[in-house]
Amino acid sequence: MCYAIPAKVVEIKKNIAVLDYFGERRNVVLDLPDIHIDDYVFAQGGILVRKVDEKEALAVLDTWKDLFFELKEIDQQLAQSSHAEKLSGNALAVLQKINLKQTLTKEDLLILNALQNPQELSVLYDVANQVRQRVHGNASCVHGIIEFSNYCRGDCFYCGIRRERSIERYRMTEAEILATTKQAIDEYGFKAIVLQSGEDLYYDEDKLEHLVKALRQLGILIFLSIGVRPVATYKKLYAAGARAALMRFETSNPVIFNELRPNTTLDERLTLIRELKKIGYVLATGFLIGLPHEQPEDLVNNILLTQELAPEMYSFGPLIPTQDTPLVHAPTISVEQVLKTIAIARVASPDANILVTTALETLSLEAKRQALLAGANSMMINLTPRQYRPLYSIYDHRACNDQTVAANIQETIQLLRDLGRAPMDVGL
Ligand code: SAH
Repeated sequence: MCYAIPAKVVEIKKNIAVLDYFGERRNVVLDLPDIHIDDYVFAQGGILVRKVDEKEALAVLDTWKDLFFELKEIDQQLAQSSHAEKLSGNALAVLQKINLKQTLTKEDLLILNALQNPQELSVLYDVANQVRQRVHGNASCVHGIIEFSNYCRGDCFYCGIRRERSIERYRMTEAEILATTKQAIDEYGFKAIVLQSGEDLYYDEDKLEHLVKALRQLGILIFLSIGVRPVATYKKLYAAGARAALMRFETSNPVIFNELRPNTTLDERLTLIRELKKIGYVLATGFLIGLPHEQPEDLVNNILLTQELAPEMYSFGPLIPTQDTPLVHAPTISVEQVLKTIAIARVASPDANILVTTALETLSLEAKRQALLAGANSMMINLTPRQYRPLYSIYDHRACNDQTVAANIQETIQLLRDLGRAPMDVGL
């Protein structure tokens, strides 16, 4: 199975390599020594991660050569019509700004967020899909995620692995993480792995450094999602070979942040997120949709803050009220609100890579498909070994808990094909 199409290096400009995918060009960071023009490579998240043997690359490209153009065609067709006549007044004016590629203001985003009527929403989703298609073509990236520990020193009110919750805890060993990653690469063809955990200080700087160095040997993009650590630790892990980091700011509203995340501050988290970017990490950030007491203005501020942090990837998902947490009785957010958030983020930030998160799939089985048609272009597949998956209970009823990795991949490939998306790198 193949999760990324190999590309040919056609140009090298200092530390940027220009890659060719069947005539489409993408710029990526040249992060490996000894790469030359005409080499075949894999790239992930805008970073060149591995050189591939020419014979192997040509064999994979051969299986893709017709499909690649068929997929493009499907994607273009799906991104065609938008029935703008169904919008009226202010919303129509915002739509015109989007079509003219003008920058949207906070008021514009509030107008879009106020749309309720299904017909109007469907126009917004279609327009967002067109913007995605115009900027990214049919590129879509799929990363694997391994949740390696559910120990957490944090006590976030929304989270099912908060320290105060009495649950069975687990921690994968380095050997287990390596074996899971190797299997993901060898059997399923993954080229990027997100390592996620609670804030588990057992995995200290030295252990993490050792782990990252071992994983780096495997020629993949290493994506960290391990919470707040000293900047010095993140610098060390970058030097060891980690290249991407996922850290949501959760909410842009400092009062709500303080209520829900004891002993931490929004400032501290934002400072770290900004530092991650300065260190050079490919950054993924975003927020939870639907925290109690948030107003429409907070949602729009969340999108604007995400934009301001200039991440390579936007990650936001709905709050899922979870058993034995202080937010168990919080209202469940609608799929429409999540799709609307994705679509608004897409039209506000045409260049963004927007993830479909598993929390959305928990709300509805169809949601993944709908999100990909409302502006999203990236996905994650859960690779956590099955015995641990139910224990990584950050929220209730997580989608895919019972599904094998192979079945999940199969389903994802089918979905991407149905929607005409190709797994080439999205580039810088
Ligand atoms: N310890 C890491 C990883 C946290 S888990 C960190 O601090 O960044 C990843 C994400 O899960 C969190 O950032 C949060 O946005 C999300 N999450 C936690 N509880 C949730 C819930 N009940 N519903 C939906 N998402 C939740």
